[in-house]
Amino acid sequence: MTIDTIKPIIITIDGWSSCGKSTMARELASRLGFVYIDSGAMYRAITLHFIRHHIDWTAPQQVSAALKEIELSFRFNTDLGRAQMHLNGENVEYLIRDLSVAERVSEVAAIASVREFAVAQQRRMGQHRGIVMDGRDIGTVVFPDAELKIFMTADNDIRVARRFLELRDKNPDITEADVRSNLETRDYIDSHREVSPLRQAEDAVVLDNSDLTPQQQLDIALAWARERATDK
Ligand code: C5P
Repeated sequence: MTIDTIKPIIITIDGWSSCGKSTMARELASRLGFVYIDSGAMYRAITLHFIRHHIDWTAPQQVSAALKEIELSFRFNTDLGRAQMHLNGENVEYLIRDLSVAERVSEVAAIASVREFAVAQQRRMGQHRGIVMDGRDIGTVVFPDAELKIFMTADNDIRVARRFLELRDKNPDITEADVRSNLETRDYIDSHREVSPLRQAEDAVVLDNSDLTPQQQLDIALAWARERATDK
């Protein structure tokens, strides 16, 4: 089967923090010739802007004024071969991965006006289909009509260990306990918020990657994608 036979469908990947959604989504998009969109990067960039500008996000007026000052874009970096998050023209791809942002992002992402702002842009990015988007509410709220919805999960200890290794490279002072606490807090807030909580869409297929290699999970997802994107 060649890529020519693949229809431009929408693939959503939702799930718990740090279970490898972005890595798989990026690879899946590249193998299918689709665009990959990291919706979490958008919430992280909004949070970075709020932190930098000392926005009190419990004050609705401050939030709506601040959102008007934010322009988000994914710009392709040809050296890296991937898109990077830009906030008002500045490349913030690395800054938004910092624990200082991770510690605040779930509070910011729980605000209804923030979600409306991000979801409107996410829907525009998917208007021509042919995308893989990962996040928490992509299959349930952003694209309820997506052709393939994947719900990813992995054992807690495995998720902590993976994220710890990733963050320790950039921040040698970080401890495994810091990472565990951040993941647990984010998962709790993300799945208990009033607006668009993280949950598995009824028509999603579950991918538990605790005991899978990256290649094995990609092969499973590719098989699902080809089945849904191929004219029969
Ligand atoms: O995917 P990532 O871990 O980068 O997302 C960071 C945070 O952004 C999540 O913990 C969640 O609070 C928020 N998020 C969200 N909805 C999405 C994507 C991310 O609420 N679709």
